[in-house]
Amino acid sequence: MTDLTGRVALVTGGTRGIGLATVRALVEAGATVVLTGRDEARAKEIAAEAGAAAGLALDVTDAKAVSSLVRGVAKEHGALDAVVANAGILEDALLGMISEDLVDRMLRTNVGGTINTVQAASRVMSRRKSGAIVVLASIVGENGSAGQTAYAASKAAVGNIARSAAKELGRHNIRVNAVAPGVIETDMTSHLGEKVIAERIEDTALCRLGKPEEVAKAIRFLVSDEASFITGQVLGIDGGLVL
Ligand code: NDP
Repeated sequence: MTDLTGRVALVTGGTRGIGLATVRALVEAGATVVLTGRDEARAKEIAAEAGAAAGLALDVTDAKAVSSLVRGVAKEHGALDAVVANAGILEDALLGMISEDLVDRMLRTNVGGTINTVQAASRVMSRRKSGAIVVLASIVGENGSAGQTAYAASKAAVGNIARSAAKELGRHNIRVNAVAPGVIETDMTSHLGEKVIAERIEDTALCRLGKPEEVAKAIRFLVSDEASFITGQVLGIDGGLVL
């Protein structure tokens, strides 16, 4: 199994779903893991339950808060080897129903929040000339999806954050990759009706939805030394979903 003993990792949005599964996978591999959520008490509670070193409050749209938290984690634990910019939101809306506010929320959280996190991580990692970052794109960002134009736009941007940051940060020995999950069973997809779920399963080669743990294992691989020559990639983890 991947060994991350002695490594320090930060997972944003680690209180639920894919983020929490990633925290557990990294802890299992021996890493010291810090997770964040928007509610401090809940983040602390989840961290204790998952065996993480700390659970901290963070809104990823607040660039100054992200920068200060990332510096604080590196200082407290002596390093920051892996950062998973997982925090994100989904709000479905048909094209005619998309408001400026919705676009603003989606871009501020999914794009701005990811850039804030990658930027803060890169500042700390470039000093040590080492680090691995994973961001959460989506199959929807690659293929599009009816009713998810704003979300798809934000996730296409996230894929390109990985590609661009990888080009910029490679010289500092920092790798940046994205994962692009299909439909994964989390709170985010729990609003989907039975008909939509059945259609997605029908479109998926493996004939089922994915589990958060299946995304987490790929993220764990990407932050580990086993992926030492992989950067700037957007890895589909979608069971063969063709939208
Ligand atoms: P969940 O809705 O289950 O969890 C979202 C997490 O993000 C929560 O921990 C939440 O924290 C956190 N979060 C949301 N907004 C902010 C913010 N402004 N600042 C800090 N934290 C925030 O989502 P999933 O686990 O399903 O998704 C995780 C990532 O994977 C997202 O980026 C999503 O877009 C992406 N993804 C998910 C897919 C799926 O099918 N589930 C498919 C493709 C991509 P809190 O607990 O405080 O609310």
